[in-house]
Amino acid sequence: MDKVLIAGAGPTGLTLALWLTGQGVPVRVIDEHDGPGTESRAMVVHARTLELYRQLGLAERVVAAGHAATEMRFWAEGKPRAALVFGDAGADLTPYPFVLVYPQDRHERLLVERLRELGVTVERSTTLTGFTDTGAHVVAQLRTADGREETVTTPYLVGCDGARSTVRHRLGTDFEGGTYAHLYYVADVEARLPGPAGEAQFALDGGDFVAVFPYDDRGLVRLIGTVRDERADHADTLRFEDIRQDAIRSLGVSVSKVNWFSTYHVHHRVSSRFRVGRCFLAGDAAHVHSPAGGQGMNTGIADAANLAWKLAAVLHGKAGERLLDSYEAERRAFARQLVDTTDRVFTFITKDGGFAEFVKAHVAPALLGAAAHSDHVRTFLFRLVSQIMVGYRDSPVSEGTAGKVEGGDRLPWVRVGDADNFVPADRIGWQLHVYGTVAPDVEGWCADRGIAVRVFPWTQAYEQAGLERDALYLLRPDTYVGLATKEATVAALARYFAALAT
Ligand SMILES: Cc1cc2nc3c(=O)[nH]c(=O)nc-3n(C[C@H](O)[C@H](O)[C@H](O)COP(=O)(O)OP(=O)(O)OC[C@H]3O[C@@H](n4cnc5c(N)ncnc54)[C@H](O)[C@@H]3O)c2cc1C
Repeated sequence: MDKVLIAGAGPTGLTLALWLTGQGVPVRVIDEHDGPGTESRAMVVHARTLELYRQLGLAERVVAAGHAATEMRFWAEGKPRAALVFGDAGADLTPYPFVLVYPQDRHERLLVERLRELGVTVERSTTLTGFTDTGAHVVAQLRTADGREETVTTPYLVGCDGARSTVRHRLGTDFEGGTYAHLYYVADVEARLPGPAGEAQFALDGGDFVAVFPYDDRGLVRLIGTVRDERADHADTLRFEDIRQDAIRSLGVSVSKVNWFSTYHVHHRVSSRFRVGRCFLAGDAAHVHSPAGGQGMNTGIADAANLAWKLAAVLHGKAGERLLDSYEAERRAFARQLVDTTDRVFTFITKDGGFAEFVKAHVAPALLGAAAHSDHVRTFLFRLVSQIMVGYRDSPVSEGTAGKVEGGDRLPWVRVGDADNFVPADRIGWQLHVYGTVAPDVEGWCADRGIAVRVFPWTQAYEQAGLERDALYLLRPDTYVGLATKEATVAALARYFAALAT
């Protein structure tokens, strides 16, 4: 099998390479830079990303390397006004009921190392300069580290090449959206904080928005904020000392050393296509949005897992090319929804003017304070932010309903005693879950096709999670439910796979 060409070794490209390698698909990963990213842009890793990493046998390593934030504190007018405690809100929903603070540069290095352990080395200082889709394959031009021009043939090209994507430009897809007016800064500092190291802090009111993420027990802290007056016109020469420090100080943060400081503009855009023939876009190449909620990198990683099993299925001859269209159907729909939501939140956070300031200083903290005391609201917010709520009910490859679970849903996570229904999860492949009993012929049919069958003795906990006794839940390799059916027969499974094969 020829290698799938992955342009870009950021978190999206690296995760795609890991997921494809894990399914026996050979890859070639190139990046125009001479080493992994050194800027710790994305700070948070969400529960759904960790669940996808669990399938790579990587989640515990990432969790051990990061810093679990179980609480978010919101400040207004120099006072802590509301705290959202995630720990208990997510405890019954996922093995990872927290927001993991783990800077992107460290994260990327860990992914590169894991890939190397699997025998894949990222080809550095290698740039994709052009390509042609012949219909039968893609012919791509690369400029390699020693300045040579190289032509490669690949069955599929995936552009994981970031917001300025060459692949997207060459495909000529629209990148609809806009750019926010405010200038943002990001600073890596050493600082003393008012609260425990596990707390992230946000100041909503006053002239400047600021978010504070401690990510190391040695007092390393990431600050993200806005620069909103005439200083924003001098972005190139701006230093940390030039930004207004009131908001930072009002949080009780005392900065002793600045290790790194940078400014940036925030865009909100989604590509009009995620697939054109044999070429795909994933991660920032396909969608960019405000850092509100820390969703960008996590969304790219989820794109990668979604695309990887589909490419593997087609390349192994288990599914027809049409399956690849469901990548755009599923992931573009989510990206558009995400951009809209983060846009609304971000526009509110950064809005100027008397009324907006009043709402941010008085109304929002009161609402957040009330929300913090409602289990229902905290659970909803955790589900939203952690991306465990993401589903694909409208996808062309989602089918059926059994209990409250529909085709396209993430399988509800249920813990019974010391075990949970996601374990053993360190494999990527189709699984059939049955809660209750399964017919021997169904079991035999799956065994013949390499589909793992997992039967869980029925208990009330499954009913509470919305699962139906004795129904079939066919899980795709990314652990979303493909088919949910009360018709617990071989025929139901055979029909589903026959449709995928066309
Ligand atoms: C300040 C800031 C804070 C952020 N905070 C968060 C957060 O808290 N949580 C979150 O989830 N996200 C956050 N993000 C967003 C996050 O950083 C991005 O979403 C993420 O880096 C996207 O990963 P990617 O792999 O898709 O693209 P990138 O990380 O941009 O990687 C693209 C790679 O492609 C390579 N490349 C480009 N062109 C070519 C070419 N022609 N040939 C070969 N290689 C090429 C580049 O060298 C690069 O390594 C933040 C972003 C910023 C700027």
